[in-house]
Amino acid sequence: MCASEKLAGGRLTIDRDAIAANWSLLKGLLKPGTACAATIKADAYGTGTTSTAQRLWAAGCTTFFVALPEEGALVRSALPDATVYVLGGLFSGAATDLAAGNLIPVLNCIAEVQEWADFCKGENRAFPAALQLNTGMNRLGMDPDEFADVMAQKDLTGSFDIALLMTHLACGSDPEAPLNRQQLNTFIAATQPFDHLPRSMANSAGVFLGPDYHFDLARPGISLYGGKALDTAANVMNPVAMVEARVMQLRHVPKGQTIGYGGAETVTRDSKVALVAAGYADGLHRRAGSSDDRPGGFGVIGNHKVPLIGRVSMDMIALDVTDVPDDAVARGSFVEMLGPNVAASDLAAYAETIDYEYLTGLGRRYYRRYAALPAPQER
Ligand SMILES: *Cc1c(COP(=O)(O)O)cnc(C)c1O
Repeated sequence: MCASEKLAGGRLTIDRDAIAANWSLLKGLLKPGTACAATIKADAYGTGTTSTAQRLWAAGCTTFFVALPEEGALVRSALPDATVYVLGGLFSGAATDLAAGNLIPVLNCIAEVQEWADFCKGENRAFPAALQLNTGMNRLGMDPDEFADVMAQKDLTGSFDIALLMTHLACGSDPEAPLNRQQLNTFIAATQPFDHLPRSMANSAGVFLGPDYHFDLARPGISLYGGKALDTAANVMNPVAMVEARVMQLRHVPKGQTIGYGGAETVTRDSKVALVAAGYADGLHRRAGSSDDRPGGFGVIGNHKVPLIGRVSMDMIALDVTDVPDDAVARGSFVEMLGPNVAASDLAAYAETIDYEYLTGLGRRYYRRYAALPAPQER
């Protein structure tokens, strides 16, 4: 992270109040009785684990999901009283560390259940754990028959505290996907005998899929950070992050010449080009570049949309500012590359990826500040 705004290629603004507002909005969509947790893995999707955890706690969020034990430890040091689940599970040999950090592993296979049970017996104390079921995603979790088997072995499950039963949707972003219902039915069938235990299924998309998917606890991630949970509906969340990159130089490029590595794009008119200090090392994906064969992403300066021209380099990009008046762009101007006017999901589409990858890939070279984001421009 660059400590000085003056010396940074770009600045990253994080709006913590917008994250809190998104959490409240999601909570308001849940059926009565469903609690709303927050998934804050991968540095809270690029927004900063500690500050985001603290802001969400102030908004009333008490339960957090992270991917890795190390991320859990960071949340724990920020929030002594929060409930913190580690989705990646129980890494072998990590039980002592997890319990000492007051972190709750999501046990994903029988071997993990066995290891946690042995640990709890050794300590003579029923530490909490979640159990994850695989209902069709075929990533982490126990198949329903394995889960039934585990639950039948009282010497295993009797030695620890089952805090949560959970599963994860594979196709939640597509409300029409038949797998959603299938996963729901599989989860209900498998957990029915244990309906005294709290259950969780919904990520962000699951919140929008409706009350059938809510159960006792929702664990949204991407929607908290302004991302687009459903492919098929407009995004109602507030943007929370803005990247602005510095114009280092303006250049005139005559019609017929090319710009950048590989000469990938030939300009079709006499052009004014801004060289801007952010590239793929700052999380602007190389695939978002432009060539004679396909258009690339864009930035926004003032109320002008400015397209990328040519390839994205490691440390810079070129933007076509021909249509921007001279008094609106100069050396030292900042161009919005992500934010209220440039949705991460739009930018991601140019790079053939998703907003999750854009947000979590926001580089470490920006000057970072916490402030409210401006309202979107009228264009
Ligand atoms: C990442 C993750 C979430 C949050 O998902 P979003 O799509 O970002 O809302 C929830 N549950 C699990 C198991 C996850 O891995």
